[in-house]
Amino acid sequence: MTGLVADDPGQPTSEPSVTGSVARCSSAQWTQRYTHAVMDTFGPPQRVLVRGDGVWVWDADGRRYLDLLGGIAVNVLGHAHPTLTAAVSAQLGTLGHVSNFFASPTQIALAERLLDLAGAPPGSRVFFTNSGTEAIEAAVKLTRRHSDGARPRLLALEGAFHGRTMGALALTAKAAYREPFEPLGSPVEWLPFGDRDALCAAFAHDGDQVAALVAEPVQGEAGVRPLPSGWLAEARRLTTAHGALLVLDEVQSGMGRTGTWFAHQQTELGGGIVPDVVTVAKGLGGGFPVGALIAYGPRTAGLLGRGQHGTTFGGNPVAAAAGLAVTGVIERDGLLAHVTALGQTWRTALRDLAHPLVREVRGLGLLIGVELVAPVAAAVTARALEAGIIVNAATPTTLRLAPPYILTSADAEIFTQFLGDLPTDPEDLR
Ligand SMILES: *Cc1c(COP(=O)(O)O)cnc(C)c1O
Repeated sequence: MTGLVADDPGQPTSEPSVTGSVARCSSAQWTQRYTHAVMDTFGPPQRVLVRGDGVWVWDADGRRYLDLLGGIAVNVLGHAHPTLTAAVSAQLGTLGHVSNFFASPTQIALAERLLDLAGAPPGSRVFFTNSGTEAIEAAVKLTRRHSDGARPRLLALEGAFHGRTMGALALTAKAAYREPFEPLGSPVEWLPFGDRDALCAAFAHDGDQVAALVAEPVQGEAGVRPLPSGWLAEARRLTTAHGALLVLDEVQSGMGRTGTWFAHQQTELGGGIVPDVVTVAKGLGGGFPVGALIAYGPRTAGLLGRGQHGTTFGGNPVAAAAGLAVTGVIERDGLLAHVTALGQTWRTALRDLAHPLVREVRGLGLLIGVELVAPVAAAVTARALEAGIIVNAATPTTLRLAPPYILTSADAEIFTQFLGDLPTDPEDLR
């Protein structure tokens, strides 16, 4: 056993044991150890969490929090869900990993289920990844094969977030994320969000040089912004007319988050359109890392040929078992209908507060953005944490809610009351 950090001499055996169990430290002690050992890319952790159960988590000091962020739209079944835990444990106890020289039944079954949930036409195929950014990475490579150098243009939307690896980063609009790492390969043109005229204009000249248009049906990181009705249909029409691929990033909005398996299946967001590529991750494993790219139709599905892409862990049997358990429970427990209904009543309740601090409540299903009248989202988030509620400031003015699908209306009401009790003057929050 190695020593403890120098200024934390009093702790007994607080190193992880060989079984991975960790002895007790206070939150403050853990935070200090974090700052010595974990790279400072995220800043200091808000709390150190040690346990979860359903929609609740507990920190190292024993305080309880209502988790309305769900690991950023990940923990769709909440924490320690018995079915997910059992599925993952059983698979790890049977066959934990094989290389992609081999396959496993769970991998094959999850690929079939994703194609089924996507309503993908015959000839469609899945590529498994470990994260969202890797699914986007695969999409970028697939797009390269589609264009074969003849289509240099890549279109994305202002406000877009597609990940942090170099290819996905090239598509990400926020300069602070992207510019320190430039050059990032093919240049990307960002179109004004949801602007149909700008979309048409982008294809009016050199439209045949567009390799792909990449979009989130609901922008998550930008503050839960659903695309306006009709935009995706127009995007589909133009990409088809010009032979470009339509890539929908549903890493955050997919897997039932909005009340349909994929956000683009929502009538107001594009219902009926068939994209060329859809990426998913976050909610798919319910907390177990797994992502996927779905390529629609035989031509797109064949763009990445043998040896042209790969990953050691992608399609891992345990990750696939998690995906099967998550989708299975959502179906078995009727969670899509619940997400739709609760999302609707919750947004209405939040609007009905008519709180002077709230400018707008938007979103679909259980992906909800509360737009504030002033840039005090971080202060509200800190207050919520003190009050035992985890939410997130997606932007300086937007609170993001992306809770587990098992949230009850009584749970939701806890946040509604918290919001209602906030001071009405933003100055009182600063
Ligand atoms: C989170 C997210 C990503 C990146 O996923 P990671 O798993 O963090 O790599 C990509 N696109 C969207 C829309 C996301 O919300």
